[in-house]
Amino acid sequence: MSYAFTWVFLAALASATAGRLWLAARQSRYVRAHRDAVPESFAGAIPLAAHQKAADYTIAKGRLQVTEICLNALLLLLLTLGGAVQWISAQWERVFPLDSIPHGTALILTVLALTSAIGLPATLYRIFGIEERFGFNKMTWKLFIIDTLKGIVLAVVIGVPLLVAVLWLMRAAGAYWWLYVWVVLMAFSVFMQMIIPTFIMPWFNKFSPLEDTALVERVERLLARCGFRSHGLFVMDGSKRSAHGNAFFAGVGASKRIVLFDTLVQRLNPGEVEAVLAHELGHYKLHHIRKSLAFSFAFALVSLFILGLLVQQPWFYEGLGVQSRTLPMALLLFLLVSSEFSFFLHPLGTVLSRKHEFEADAYATRFSESADLVQALVKMYRDNASTLTPDPLHSAFYDSHPPAATRIARLRTA
Ligand SMILES: [Zn+2]
Repeated sequence: MSYAFTWVFLAALASATAGRLWLAARQSRYVRAHRDAVPESFAGAIPLAAHQKAADYTIAKGRLQVTEICLNALLLLLLTLGGAVQWISAQWERVFPLDSIPHGTALILTVLALTSAIGLPATLYRIFGIEERFGFNKMTWKLFIIDTLKGIVLAVVIGVPLLVAVLWLMRAAGAYWWLYVWVVLMAFSVFMQMIIPTFIMPWFNKFSPLEDTALVERVERLLARCGFRSHGLFVMDGSKRSAHGNAFFAGVGASKRIVLFDTLVQRLNPGEVEAVLAHELGHYKLHHIRKSLAFSFAFALVSLFILGLLVQQPWFYEGLGVQSRTLPMALLLFLLVSSEFSFFLHPLGTVLSRKHEFEADAYATRFSESADLVQALVKMYRDNASTLTPDPLHSAFYDSHPPAATRIARLRTA
């Protein structure tokens, strides 16, 4: 504990953990306080029982979140100052020479596998406990195991070569390695945007062309009004895993496609589907996908620049309980601890995302009926048991979408 950085790290971990717990407590308290009355603007549209179910669902998820926050803080302490990362590194030294790429790869994969394994019970409880209890879970144990195995295969086939490439660049590319790594990571993420909808998602879900001819015609008229050429309008069998509904837009260039969850198509009428799609088209037409990508690229560049400085500092390693000062070790420590230092920057991303939501709503009202979008949103909030009364501060900090009441009030005056 002779390093000042140890204390800096402990202060960051303590304040981020306290911040997370405080926000979670506020959210639960606020939702519970508003449990017994449907907010005025939703009276008539959402029955009290549905409102109370949303409150109980939010509170149940919040409780699990509190457990996870505490567990993650303990795990991080155990890995760093507790010496677990150093111990794992020493074990791999018996197999591979320290500071070799195989050693670094094995070290990072072991720690990541370990943290995922420790997070598994919480994931299981979320799906088979909470989601099940509130009637949203459609996932079977068999499907869960298949999904997990597929996820591991993808991580090995895609993740490991990427990790090896990054470790190689860190070693071979000279003082500006962080810039080269950034270029590789950004190229990789654009590449993934292209292959995810066409090659990876079909491995997990079935995509069938939208068949309802009346709806297809309606959507095609909308696309023509918006001047958009789609490479496919698909329905995804989201109901295989969950009763939650959604619509999204995936891919770039020739792989771009519009995807509707089957659950959504069943519940919304054609006008409402059109309005939801107009909103999604708004995200595309207003370049939101590109803008958020640019934002995360800038964030990644700053992070890698900082990592470039940290790798040379003995205090960074030793302050985090590690004696083996290798480049892979620096990368691993950075991956583990950076979220504690950047926690209070979280709202920067959500501010951007909420601005985009308002813009996409405004776009939707230009090309479809705003009343339909309001109807669709009310149905989605009701059917997904999303709370209508989030704590304002919790929502401002975390939520990618504006609170329901604010969003709908704006649409009604549009
Ligand atoms: Zn949106």
